[in-house]
Amino acid sequence: MAETTDATGYHSLVTLLESIEVGLVVIDLDYRVQMWNGFMENHSGVNASRLLGQSLFEQFPELPRAWLIRKVQSVITLNTRTFTSWEQRPYLFRFRNTRPVTGTEEYMFQNLTISPLTGPDGQVEQVCLMIYDVTDIASGRRALEHANKQLERLSSTDRLTGLLNRGTWENLLDAEFERYRRYGHNTVLVMFDIDHFKPINDTHGHLIGDEVIREVALITREALRQADRPGRYGGEEFAIILPETDIDGALVICERIRETIAETAVETDHGPIHCTVSMGLVKLTDSAENYMQWLQQADEALYRAKKAGRNRSVVSGSD
Ligand code: GH3
Ligand code: MG
Ligand code: MG
Repeated sequence: MAETTDATGYHSLVTLLESIEVGLVVIDLDYRVQMWNGFMENHSGVNASRLLGQSLFEQFPELPRAWLIRKVQSVITLNTRTFTSWEQRPYLFRFRNTRPVTGTEEYMFQNLTISPLTGPDGQVEQVCLMIYDVTDIASGRRALEHANKQLERLSSTDRLTGLLNRGTWENLLDAEFERYRRYGHNTVLVMFDIDHFKPINDTHGHLIGDEVIREVALITREALRQADRPGRYGGEEFAIILPETDIDGALVICERIRETIAETAVETDHGPIHCTVSMGLVKLTDSAENYMQWLQQADEALYRAKKAGRNRSVVSGSD
C-alpha cells in the first residue's frame, strides 16, 4: 500500500516538474544531461529523448562554458546552491522571447539557480539548473530606465542646482527678445561667474566644488523675485533675466547677491570655503539683432569686472 502511494507520489512529482513554468535541467558531474523538462523542450525546440546522456556543452556550444563550469564547480565543492540574476547575465540559454506583452525584447531574460543534488551518502552526484523566465520584469525595468533617461534629457532644470538649465534658459531669453521688440519693457540681463574657482576644485576636489556651486545658486535664488529667471549657464557661470527692472534696480539686486556670496562660508567636509563672484549687467536695448548679442554684451561687462579685480559688478556701457 505504502509502495503504491510512493509510486503515485513520484509519478505526480515528475508530471509536475515536466509541466512547471520553470526550466529544469539536471546534469551529472560530467555535464551530461539527466533531465530536461517540458519548459526546456518548448523553448529550445529540442526533445529530452535526444539529449539524455549527452554532453550539455556539445549540444549547446553557445553556452558560456567557462563561466558555467566555474559556477557549477563551486556549487559541487561547497554543496550549496547559487543564484545569478538577469542583471549579471541576461540569459544562460538563448531562447527567443515568446511573450506577447513584452514582444519588444528579442530574447528571454533569465534568472538562474544552480542547486546540488546529493546521493544517500551526502555526496553531490548531480546538479540542477533552474531557469526562470523574468522577461516581463527585465523589460519593465529597462523601459523604466529608458523613460528616466529621456525625462532627464527633456527636463528643464539643472540637476546640481535646480536652476533652469542652459537650453531652457536660452529659450526664455530668446522669448524675452521677441517680447522686448514688441513692448520695449525695461529688462536687464546679468551674467556672473565664480572667481578663481579652479583653485577650489584643484585643492578640494570636484565634489566640494559642486557644493560651492550649489550654495551660490541657492543664495542667488533666495535673493530674487518670482518673476526673475536665473539659470545655470555653464560650469560655474550663471545668468539671470530681470524683467520689469531698470539698471539701477538691477545693480542693487546684483550687489546684494554678490555681497551675500562674499560673506557666506560654504560649510563642506573640508571646512568652510569662501568665494566671490564677478557680474556683468546689460540693459536690453534695440542695438541687438538677436538675443546672442545681448549675451555678448553681458559677457563683455563680466570680463571687465574680472579684469578690474573681480568680486564686483560692472554695467555694460559704463566707463
Ligand atoms: P576666473 O576668476 O577667471 O573665473 O577663474 P576660474 O578659476 O574660475 O576660471 P575658469 O572659469 O577658467 O575655471 C572654471 C573651472 O570650473 C574649470 C572647471 O574645471 C571647473 N568646472 C566647470 N564645471 C564644473 C562643475 O560642474 N563642477 C565643478 N566642481 N567644477 C566645474
Ligand atoms: Mg570662474
Ligand atoms: Mg568660468
